This record gives sequence, C-alpha cells and structure tokens, in this order.
Amino acid sequence: MRYPIKGWIKNSFCDWDSKISSVIFLPGCNFRCSFCQNWPLVERYEDIPDVEWLEIESYLIEHRDFIDGFVITGGEPFVSDFLFDIIEKIKSIGIAVKIDTNGTFPDKLKYLIENELIRGVSMDVKDALEAEFYSRICGITITPELMEKIIESTKILMNSKIDYEFRTTLVRKFHTIDNLKKIGVQLKGARKYVLQQYRSIGVKDGFDGGEPFSKEEMLRFQEVLSEFFQKCDIRYYGTNT
Ligand code: SF4
Repeated sequence: MRYPIKGWIKNSFCDWDSKISSVIFLPGCNFRCSFCQNWPLVERYEDIPDVEWLEIESYLIEHRDFIDGFVITGGEPFVSDFLFDIIEKIKSIGIAVKIDTNGTFPDKLKYLIENELIRGVSMDVKDALEAEFYSRICGITITPELMEKIIESTKILMNSKIDYEFRTTLVRKFHTIDNLKKIGVQLKGARKYVLQQYRSIGVKDGFDGGEPFSKEEMLRFQEVLSEFFQKCDIRYYGTNT
C-alpha cells in the first residue's frame, strides 16, 4: 500500500511530552489558518515527495524499544482516508499513537478513543470557542454546526482517559486576554492546556501576525489561566522567531 506521507521526523523529543516519538506529516486540511506554518502541506502537497511507508515501518520495528510514541500530524490528519490503516499498523507494532487535530471530526475521534487505537491527542483551540472568533482565524467560514463539532471534540477528550492537551497558538493580531479567559471558562477543568508562542518562520508571505509575545507576556497569560486547568504550560521558542 502506498500512503502519501509528506514528512517524517525519525526521533523527536518535543512532540509528545515525556515520550521519544517518531512523527509523520499528512497532507491536506479543511482549514486555511493565516498563520499556518505547514501551509505547503495544506495547499501544495502535490509538490512534496512521498516518504516511503515501508522505510518508516521498518525503522519503527527496529527501534521499538527506543521509540515509545508515534505522532501523526499535518495538515489535519483526519482528512486522510488512509489514517486508520496507518494507526492499525502502528498499533500492531506496539507503539502508542497520538494525533494532532483541529477538532472538526468528533465522530472519528470518538471511534479511535473508544476502540483504544490512540493514546494521545493534541487539539488546537484556535480562540474562544465561538464561530465568530474561529472564522477570523481559520480562513474559512465556521458555521454554527462546525463549531458544535469542535466543541463536541473538546467534550469527548475531557470525558476520556487518554493523554490529551488543548493548545492555543498565541498570535498578537488575534488573541486578547479576554478571549483567553473565555477559553478558560469554556474548558474549565481540562487536564492540560498549553499556550504556544506564534512563530513567523514558515508562514505565508504577506501575513503579519504582529510581534511574537515575549516570555514575560506568556508567563502572565499562564498565571491568569492556571486557575482554570489542572495544568497550564507555555511553549516559548525564543526571540528569533
Ligand atoms: S488547522 Fe493546522 S494545519 Fe490546518 S491550516 Fe490551520 S494551522 Fe494549518
């Protein structure tokens, strides 16, 4: 079987907390976020050569004592119709799987959790969970129905026992402390919430998200939001972004 996998990091120490993971990138996405750092994977994936699945599979089999996680990211992994095939194959090798998602496919997410096919999820929370705020970030019109699906995904995760995190990439142009507090109220009690620094590296020409937030600003956000979550972390990448 040939899968159009568009990127592979053999070993990563930062894509699944406390795990050494191998990461693949799948093409396509149903969003068009203006600050997307993987936009060639979203819009121009036909130009990106495939990574051979057999090479990945043999590497994982050979290193399964060392690699304890397999992260599937994109793009949006759930738009790929071969996603479930890959997950089954990884499970049979005996490595835990995590998916990165924008949360728009709650039925598929629920299926994977209920059938114990994945052990982790990182779900983007783009802004306060309202169609108006999502629409100005995601590059498409977010209908009330689609917003409901995203909210449903948050509930599925919060009611699950798997290792999940919600994460917001903080873009000065879009995010305010008021909206971040709304996220806190909407996802109150979630096990983990992560504030990620926006990086301008790799975004499309012409997009100006403003200065990345400084570490001090992010720490202040963290201080305010910590009361809502069991754990609230920041991912700060430095000043040269
Ligand atoms: S959901 Fe993620 S992959 Fe899709 S456009 Fe937005 S940032 Fe890019």
